Amino acid sequence: MRKKIIAGNWKMNKTPSEAKALVAEIKEKVAGATCDVVVCPTAICIPGVVEELKGSNVAVGAQNVHFKESGAYTGELAGNMLKEAGVTYVIIGHSERRQYFGETDETVNLRTKAALEAGLLPIVCVGESLTEREQGITDDTVRRQTKIAFLGISAEDAKKIVIAYEPVWAIGTGKTATAEQADEVCGIIRETIAGLYGKETAEAIRIQYGGSMNAKNAAELLAKPNIDGGLIGGASLKAEDFSVIVEAA
Ligand code: PEP
Repeated sequence: MRKKIIAGNWKMNKTPSEAKALVAEIKEKVAGATCDVVVCPTAICIPGVVEELKGSNVAVGAQNVHFKESGAYTGELAGNMLKEAGVTYVIIGHSERRQYFGETDETVNLRTKAALEAGLLPIVCVGESLTEREQGITDDTVRRQTKIAFLGISAEDAKKIVIAYEPVWAIGTGKTATAEQADEVCGIIRETIAGLYGKETAEAIRIQYGGSMNAKNAAELLAKPNIDGGLIGGASLKAEDFSVIVEAA
């Protein structure tokens, strides 16, 4: 039985004081959660959020990690820095990073390996664009993204990775994939993992759905057999909505 995981991707929102106030509310509301709960604030908010969440059941995630341990990479953060700051998870290859910051399948693979090396748990994002869906190449796209992301990663490490299936056309648009569409693609991702590592690893790995998941549609999505949680953008910025989603899991 896979434990569900609900993660909030705060993107570039909240100042350090606002972030602390938000998690103070969230931790109260999700104290009885039976699933894993993660919040992913901006890097500058991480220390305050980690402090505020001490002793709670909410883990902290970062929104990106560089693939080198140190060096001349202005603006980047290494895995060991995040780890020392109290980070547990890290989102890798979010579609906004692929779209605006030149992230590729190859850099997603490098970052995933670096995260594991640093003892962080990657949340690796895959998902098709609207054009890819309309061209009927959703399956090929997520298979390719998944295979490349996992290149050179052992089965033991693969099980630590959470995959977030996020159709790009559903992110921040209010358009959610139907529960059937989301479950079908999560199933294809699981099959891809089975092809790479075998059935046992595929059954162990957690696959989230992300894309306009909210307090209203979460229960239906999370009831599907291949959906093991959610990566939540907009709705994770309101403690009430986020806690309803956590409750649904
Ligand atoms: C996301 O950014 O990962 C996301 C799913 O955003 P939203 O929930 O706002 O669509």
